[in-house]
Amino acid sequence: MHKLTIHPSGLLKEENPLFNTAVLMAATLVVYLVSSLLQEPGHLALFWPQNALMVGVVLRFPFLNRPRYYFSCLFSVLLCNIAIGHNNIGALLIILSNVAFICILTNAILYERKLPTDPLKINVLRLYSYCLITALISSLLGSYGYNLVSGKPYETIYPVWFSEQFSTSVLILPFVLTWTGSLLPKSFNFRQTMPAVVLALSLTASSQSGGIGSLAVTLPALIWCAISYSLPVTCLLTQLTGITEVLMVDAHWMYSSFEGHVTQIVSARMGIASIAISPVIVAVSVQAINTLVKQLSARANYDFLTRVHSRFGLYEKLRIQNEKAGNTALNVLLLDIDHFKTINDTHGHDCGDSVLTEFARRVKEVVGEEGIVARMGGEEFAVVMPNACGDNGYRLAEEIRAEIEQMEVQWGSDTLSLTVSIGLSHGQAARRQLVDAFDKLLSEADRYLYQSKRAGRNRTCSAASIMEKYLEPSAI
Ligand code: GH3
Ligand code: MG
Ligand code: MG
Repeated sequence: MHKLTIHPSGLLKEENPLFNTAVLMAATLVVYLVSSLLQEPGHLALFWPQNALMVGVVLRFPFLNRPRYYFSCLFSVLLCNIAIGHNNIGALLIILSNVAFICILTNAILYERKLPTDPLKINVLRLYSYCLITALISSLLGSYGYNLVSGKPYETIYPVWFSEQFSTSVLILPFVLTWTGSLLPKSFNFRQTMPAVVLALSLTASSQSGGIGSLAVTLPALIWCAISYSLPVTCLLTQLTGITEVLMVDAHWMYSSFEGHVTQIVSARMGIASIAISPVIVAVSVQAINTLVKQLSARANYDFLTRVHSRFGLYEKLRIQNEKAGNTALNVLLLDIDHFKTINDTHGHDCGDSVLTEFARRVKEVVGEEGIVARMGGEEFAVVMPNACGDNGYRLAEEIRAEIEQMEVQWGSDTLSLTVSIGLSHGQAARRQLVDAFDKLLSEADRYLYQSKRAGRNRTCSAASIMEKYLEPSAI
């Protein structure tokens, strides 16, 4: 639980190191320039997204976690700095602090993976702790560098530098690591927008109210988003909310009663980063629960051995169709392999399993889109054909019977063949009565199956009217 899966991206390939270096250097430059634009001259940047973004890039392409790629990042920023005249020791320490941040955080997260081939997953609480520790360490160097450049006191710079590194990485990384390319839902309805609308309203309310509690006002709306939207969307909304709140604090919209801008911004960033953890944890948990529910229902709905529907899965499917179905005609075919016990007794249970699997595969192939195939238990299968007339049912049953009759299963040096007996029933299901109608038709099909067995097996039995019509086509 609470584990965030980091999706590797296929955009770069490990076997193209030159191309990767060029892309990485270009990306570093672009992100560096964007980050620099966010910095007011003579002030520390309100956001310095470069480090968190680069951590995201390396984690999405883990093969970039090599010294040569780190050096190429370092080199491109150094060149940029020299070009704009920042060629002193302080500027160098700042760059080293940024590369150290990227290197430490990336390796801490990659260390979570037991094998290089395993998918990269990280517990959200750990991710936040790693961001905190990395920010604490790398800020020591960065603050010293800025102290040399600006002459401002180290003890004032450090909390501002550290709080920015921590909060920016906590806000940016979850989205960068989980985004898989699409954010919009497959189908859109107005009610789905409500959590986002309430989030926007609560953000406005928090900016208007100000005061100590205002930053937390958005939390309930963010939690609502977390249980309503996908993980990347929740991460993006949390990120945008956090960034807006930092901007609002910086613009003195909130906490107007506090004195001292530095205290405000450090305190706000720490509060925002701490709040941001909750919606991400909720979204990750919801995602884990949804995956679990899907896995469990797949297990319950499908037969483990033959991969056709289980009896439970067939009822589930009929229940879903029942919601939409109007008056419909229905065919139920009940199939039972003849003398199956002899196969088990002669060749063993494993052979019986393999015959069952092949039998189900062939039946599914013949039925195609015409019906639903389910294993009712043992060597007994059902085929349900909604919206079909009795003749079609008989035709399909005979096609299945003929297919199984000529099927051969190889078991070691033995070639096995088998036959199947089928009972077919046909009836009408009134509106929203599909399940009840199926139950009745299933018992009727069972009676016809019994008739097939008694009449010598390897045949289809059904109501006389259907059989006559099928066996004497001229009568149609
Ligand atoms: P009939 O022609 O009258 O249907 O004879 P039959 O031998 O097919 O019928 P019977 O009901 O006597 O035997 C069915 C056998 O199917 C008994 C059981 O051991 C076997 N069986 C049930 N489920 C499985 C399974 O999952 N795997 C294997 N290998 N055998 C199974
Ligand atoms: Mg049987
Ligand atoms: Mg049986």
